Amino acid sequence: MNDFHYRNNELWCEEVPLKAIARKVGTPTYVYSRHTLERHFSVFDEAFEKIDHLVCFAVKSNSNVAILRIFAREGGGVDIVSGGELYRALQAGVDPGKVVYSGVGKRVDEIEFALEAGILLFNVESLQELEVIDACAGRLGKKAPIALRVNPDVDPQTHPYISTGLKENKFGINVKKSLEAYRQARNLPNVEIKGVSCHIGSQLTKISPFVDALKRLKRLVSLLRKEGIRIRYLDLGGGLGITYREEEPPHPSDYARAIIKTAKDLDVTFIFEPGRVIVGNAGILLTKVLYTKTNDDKRFIVVDAGMNDLIRPSLYSSYHGIQPVLKSRRETATADVVGPICESGDYLAKGRDLPLFERNELMAVMSAGAYGFTMSSNYNSRPRAAEVLVDGNRISVIRKRETYRDLVRGERIPEFLSE
Ligand SMILES: *Cc1c(COP(=O)(O)O)cnc(C)c1O
Repeated sequence: MNDFHYRNNELWCEEVPLKAIARKVGTPTYVYSRHTLERHFSVFDEAFEKIDHLVCFAVKSNSNVAILRIFAREGGGVDIVSGGELYRALQAGVDPGKVVYSGVGKRVDEIEFALEAGILLFNVESLQELEVIDACAGRLGKKAPIALRVNPDVDPQTHPYISTGLKENKFGINVKKSLEAYRQARNLPNVEIKGVSCHIGSQLTKISPFVDALKRLKRLVSLLRKEGIRIRYLDLGGGLGITYREEEPPHPSDYARAIIKTAKDLDVTFIFEPGRVIVGNAGILLTKVLYTKTNDDKRFIVVDAGMNDLIRPSLYSSYHGIQPVLKSRRETATADVVGPICESGDYLAKGRDLPLFERNELMAVMSAGAYGFTMSSNYNSRPRAAEVLVDGNRISVIRKRETYRDLVRGERIPEFLSE
């Protein structure tokens, strides 16, 4: 369920027609619904109300500070993967005591920043990283709260690029080696073992891989406790999928029921790191048709958003729904929706049966709230899109459209080229 809907054949977000946003802010523009964001967050959070838990929104899926503020107001924490994401979270007013930090390549300066901020948990992905964190904490006179990110070797049955919990993936510490790793961690003077964590992949549409991963982590927790290692937190990561097309992912309450049942009397505080399931269907990319053309009998709709704005179709062959902002009775035909970028891989939709869009017409690329703007770039020197948050009948530009000046900010011509 989301708050993008047709009213008299016109697409609206909450109480605002998308046409009005295009008129005011231009295109391409990401549009998010505050109401959908809040509802998705609370549905997920409330699904686990029977157990101790903390929902840490995955910042990489949508990192706008206004979006982060929405979840902070709801009492949520965040999952970060860089110093930049920590900076954003703090700007947004997220409680540092609710921040968990994942990622295989944490730099020393990033680790120090997180220690100074006082985050809840480092999810440590290698023994070398563990030693570096220990050394950083020692230098700063702090104790680093850690969990080891275990790679449970379960198949999430998703796209290979977003599968992270198989032993051939770069993430985490092999579950078979993790007990030994915890023994080493225990001997380090400046780290405090707080928990275990995993994250097995993204856009999962089945519950069983999560349950399998949890079972493996449970076994590990009981082995650790036998050795006197206290485990307070169990971080199950994110990864719950959404409907882009015809997928039927489990509802968060079904997911929660299975997790709660499997957890049984495991005495821990659960941490979840959902990203896509919260923001994916809470946002769209609003774009305008620049041209239509046919090459032989192939139809193309050229729009003003490209792979630099939304790379998921090019990168993962992902499906995003395409909707006209103004619906009208008209013929349909098979067409590709493509952007202005000089790459054949620059498309938003391929081989779709679509209404005969016309020049200057507005189009909505659906389900673009997650991994949309955050993966955008300036390729082809295209200023990045604006972002707008809708709240009832109010709109707010939460990120200005970039300008040409923004494009060259930080660049300079060296003196020796003026000689
Ligand atoms: C990407 C990521 C998430 C979020 O995944 P979603 O599929 O968007 O829920 C959570 N935790 C970690 C460690 C991640 O890398």
